[in-house]
Amino acid sequence: MLRDVVHRTDPELAALLDLEDQRQRDKLRLIPSENYTSQAVLQTLSSALSNKYSEGYPGKRYYEGQQYIDAIEQLCIARAKSLFGAEHANVQPYSGSPANLAVYLAFCKPGDVIMGLGLPAGGHLTHGWNVSITGKYFTSVAYGVRKETGRVDLNEVEALAKKHTPKILFCGGTAVPRTIDFAGFAQIARSVGAVLVADIAHIAGLVAGGAHPSPVGHAEVITTTTHKTLRGPRGGMILCNANHAQALDRAVFPGLQGGPHNATVAALAVALKEAQSEDFRRYAHQIVRNSRALAEALLARGYDLVSGGTDNHLILIDLSNKEIPGKRAAQALDRAGIETNYNSVPFDPRKPFDPSGLRIGTPGMTSRGMTESEMPQVAAWIDRAIAAEKRGDAQQLSTIAAEVRELLLRFPAPGL
Ligand SMILES: *Cc1c(COP(=O)(O)O)cnc(C)c1O
Repeated sequence: MLRDVVHRTDPELAALLDLEDQRQRDKLRLIPSENYTSQAVLQTLSSALSNKYSEGYPGKRYYEGQQYIDAIEQLCIARAKSLFGAEHANVQPYSGSPANLAVYLAFCKPGDVIMGLGLPAGGHLTHGWNVSITGKYFTSVAYGVRKETGRVDLNEVEALAKKHTPKILFCGGTAVPRTIDFAGFAQIARSVGAVLVADIAHIAGLVAGGAHPSPVGHAEVITTTTHKTLRGPRGGMILCNANHAQALDRAVFPGLQGGPHNATVAALAVALKEAQSEDFRRYAHQIVRNSRALAEALLARGYDLVSGGTDNHLILIDLSNKEIPGKRAAQALDRAGIETNYNSVPFDPRKPFDPSGLRIGTPGMTSRGMTESEMPQVAAWIDRAIAAEKRGDAQQLSTIAAEVRELLLRFPAPGL
C-alpha cells in the first residue's frame, strides 16, 4: 500500500523499486554482507521518525519534541546492551565506517599509530588502509595472515604491536572466514597499552545468536554495522565498557555527526528485539551449518578456499586453480542468477579491481529458510556456471538462472 502511493507520486522511481524487489526475490543472494530484513524493520524505517531532529542523547537534546524519540532511543540502547551483555551502547552511528571513525576520534590524535588487519588479508578499509581517511590521518601498521594457513598469526600481531605500540588495535574484518580469537587479541592489546576494538560488522548476528564467541569482556570497544548478519536496518553501533562511554558518545555527537537517523534507530530497536528470539538463535546457527556444508561441497568440486574452509557465514574462494578471474566469474554467476562479489585473496597477484577471489556467504539464503540440504545444489550451480562461462555458453547461464528462480519459489524472501 505504501508502494501504491509512490507509484502515484513518482511512477518512474516506483517502477525501479518494484524491479529491485523482484531481483531480490529471484536471485540467490550470496554476498556475505547482505541479508533480508523483516517487514517490521522495513515498515519502521519508512515511519514519520524521518521527520524529526534530535541532536544529542536521550534527556539531553538540543531540540524540543523528544517525548517519543527519547523513549525509542532508550529502548534501542537497552536492547543492544542486553542482547550483547555490554555496559554501554551508542546506537547513533550512521553506518559501520562512521562508527569506526568515532573510535579514532575518541582515542587518537592525527598521526598516532593504529593497527589493523590489512585490506588484502581481509581487513576493512577503516582499519587503517591507505586510501581511507584512517590510513591518511593516522600512522597505520597492518598485520596480515599466514600464507600457508590463510589465518591471522597472533605471534605476528604481538611482535608488530610490541614494536609499534599502537593506540588502538582493531580485530575483525570483512573477508575473514574464521573465528576471531578475541581473548588472544586482548592479551596483546593489554601488554602494549592499546585499546582493543573488535569490529564485528560481519558477525554481529552470529555473536548475538551464540554462533560465534563474543568479544564482550575482551574488547573494550566493539563496533558493528547493523545490517549484515544482525539483519537490521543499514546503520552502525558502538558497544563499550562504561569507562569509555563518555568519550565515545562525545565522539559520535558532536564530534562526528549531527542529528541521529531516528527511523533507523527505531528499526534497529525492532531488529534487536527479533534478535532476542529463539528463531534468531536457530537462524544464526543455521548460517554456520549452511556455510560449512557449502564449503564442503565446493571443496569436493576442487575449489580452493582461503584457510581451507569456514567457521562462520563467509567463504573466500581462490579461483586461481580454476583459471578464471574473480570478476569474470562473479559477472557470469550474476547472469546465472547467483549474486556474489569478487574479492582479493591474501597475497593476490592480481589487482583489487580484478582480483583472483570470490567472496560468498550464507546469511541471505538462511534468512529465506534454506538449509544444508540445498547447499550441494548451490555448489553445483556455481561450478556449472563457471564452467559455462569458460566455454562461452551463455545459454547454460540462463538455464541455471531459471533453475535458481524455480528453487527460490519454495523459499519466500522475508520482507518483500
Ligand atoms: C561492512 C564493514 C564496515 C563498514 O560498514 P559500512 O556500513 O559499509 O560503512 C566496517 N567494518 C567491517 C569489518 C565491515 O565488514
